[in-house]
Amino acid sequence: MKRQSFKDKAIRFAKTWHIVALAAIGAFAVGTGAFDFDSAIRSWYILLLGAFIIAASLLDITHRLKGSLLSHFSSQIQGPLLWTVTAWILLRMSGPYSKHAIIIPAGFIAWLVTTYPPKVFLFPILFAFIMEAGLTITGRQPVVELALNILLYGLIAAFLVFFAHSQAYRKKLVNSIARAKKKSYDSEYAKDLGITAPGPSILETLPEFEAIENKEQPDVSTIETITDSFDLQLKLIRQALNLTTVAVLWPDAQGRELRLRNISTIRKDIQPGPYPIGSGITGALLRDRKEITTASVKTDFSGLPYYIKKGGVGSLLAVNIPDNLQRESSAVERKISGILCADRTEKSAWNESELTILRLLCKKLSLDIDMGRQFYNMNRERNAFQRVCIGLRELNSVLGLEPVFDATIKAVKALVQADFIAISLLQGKYHSIVRAEGLHAKNLLKQEFSKNEGLVGQVMKINRSLPAGAEYRGPAPIFSSEQRFPDFGSLLIVPLRKEEGSSIGALTVAAKKNGIFTSRRRDILELIAAQVAIKIDLAQAHEQINKIATIDGLTNLANHKTFQHAFDVMLNRAQRRSGHLCLLLCDIDYFKRINDTYGHPFGDQVLKKIADALTVTVRKLDLVARYGGEEFGIILEDSDEYGGREMAERIRKKIESLSMHQNNNTITITISIGLAAFPDDGKEKSLLIDHADRALYHAKASGRNCIKTWSEIMAEFTADARRRP
Ligand code: GH3
Ligand code: MG
Ligand code: MG
Repeated sequence: MKRQSFKDKAIRFAKTWHIVALAAIGAFAVGTGAFDFDSAIRSWYILLLGAFIIAASLLDITHRLKGSLLSHFSSQIQGPLLWTVTAWILLRMSGPYSKHAIIIPAGFIAWLVTTYPPKVFLFPILFAFIMEAGLTITGRQPVVELALNILLYGLIAAFLVFFAHSQAYRKKLVNSIARAKKKSYDSEYAKDLGITAPGPSILETLPEFEAIENKEQPDVSTIETITDSFDLQLKLIRQALNLTTVAVLWPDAQGRELRLRNISTIRKDIQPGPYPIGSGITGALLRDRKEITTASVKTDFSGLPYYIKKGGVGSLLAVNIPDNLQRESSAVERKISGILCADRTEKSAWNESELTILRLLCKKLSLDIDMGRQFYNMNRERNAFQRVCIGLRELNSVLGLEPVFDATIKAVKALVQADFIAISLLQGKYHSIVRAEGLHAKNLLKQEFSKNEGLVGQVMKINRSLPAGAEYRGPAPIFSSEQRFPDFGSLLIVPLRKEEGSSIGALTVAAKKNGIFTSRRRDILELIAAQVAIKIDLAQAHEQINKIATIDGLTNLANHKTFQHAFDVMLNRAQRRSGHLCLLLCDIDYFKRINDTYGHPFGDQVLKKIADALTVTVRKLDLVARYGGEEFGIILEDSDEYGGREMAERIRKKIESLSMHQNNNTITITISIGLAAFPDDGKEKSLLIDHADRALYHAKASGRNCIKTWSEIMAEFTADARRRP
């Protein structure tokens, strides 16, 4: 039995001090010169030790930043020790540069001295001294150098301490440290009390971006109120019952130690803790008891962890503070709850009314904590709703399909932490995924599925959300039977319903986690979906109207109005960049005859076919428009007359090569083209159009199925003029 407890002690000792031991080994190695440039690079185990120490340093820093470091003394000094040793390792390893690198440890020592209390910084300084002395003893550093080094460290440290103690700086530092301490204390307390633990909220899972934005900071004002309320109640009870001390001890979030959270006392010898769990009176309470009352306590009693001196306790009482959160969660997760301790010098036993009062106090404290949690959850819920409202507002303010899709995804993300979001739209006999994000999104995007396929098809058909419990059970096909998503736990498909009732699509949201869609979240998602449906309907109508206004219905080319507008824009650009532009006006030859011979409908078909041929022949950045009945206007971006003529020739040949059939006849069509180039043939739109038109007239006059450019016509005109006397 005794050996077991010795073993336990040894294990606990090793657990607490192993990092300090690691730093000591490192310091020894530095002191014996193992980290000197030449020997270090020759022995791998020294390099390994160095890497180990640096890694431990970094780990300690991350723990410190997260605030998850224990408050035991070993934890306080282990970081500074590791950093000191790391600084010296770097100094020794810097070999030929060590003369300059001396600034690292010197500055570091100064920083330790100014930022840590003597209790902490004395240890690393001792280590530093041992390492330096070791180097001298093993003959690696002359005594003079040792003395100079120590003098240098001392001087820099003294200078910084002097600076740090200057009135103004001191005041600033003290204030900011106090503020930071209070903040971290409050948030730590909030964590310990479980104020930040997700309660029975409608929005249990916080969406990603909020977690990033405010890092799940516990509500500090809540914890301040709780602390004040606790303090007040403890004081009240202590006074009323004439007690020495009433205190609340609370375990840290991991249940590794007990912390003194609130105390009202008349004694001066208070040990602020933290205290190991399981010793003294608190240990006895942990052994499955709700309450311990003791009277006529021994004079040298030392079972209350918060007293430094023994004795002074006549009777005492310790009660577990019931934790409602713990009752809800599984008992294994958190075993220890808070403890209320009360003691007095009087040795008489506690009477019934005193016991009742103290028990009621426990219940009241527990209620305070519950209220804090509820307050926190309400806050969180309100934030989530705010985000959804912002999302909806954004959705309302956007125009066009793509921005609506973007805003939808954003609004959904504000509401739930989804791993997959997709928007499907009904298009005739199919539903297709027009936008997808998250898992599998790449494979699914733009895929088409037949109208009734999958759960999504069902949702659009019955106009109701599926599946009923918003859980993805088994192999139900979401979009089609080919794709299964066994990694989804939660799934909700909401119809995108138009105002009059029919579905125009569906919104699919899924997550790996189970049960993320609470009923209120589902309601909100349906609200979002209703808004999205209206916006998509509007956007589609808008696009349709736009199309009708700009596109020619027969040929699907830009209409005359669009041509005029686009010409303005393109000409403007060419003018600004002093670039080139070519305008081609094309007219079908003897088209009237085709209409008359084969009928107007066939004429329409010819127009369509020619329009398609023109579209595929020109480059993407050029514009083809239906200029008039059987006339087409083409604007060639960045083309001079030479390039324009080449393109025109290609177009002419292409049309000539088309063959159409009607009544067993093969019909060939030809076109004539007039060309005017910017800037040589005119700088304004109207002039260019006029010149191209006149060139086209000349092409017709010279036998059709040919190209005439304005410059040719001008050249012929001047030649003619010269010939005529
Ligand atoms: P030219 O070689 O001189 O151009 O002879 P043309 O017969 O093509 O003469 P013109 O340009 O005057 O004839 C235009 C004809 O195009 C008249 C009209 O019937 C026909 N047309 C105009 N718009 C349409 C249309 O939308 N569909 C059909 N089928 N024919 C059209
Ligand atoms: Mg014509
Ligand atoms: Mg014609």
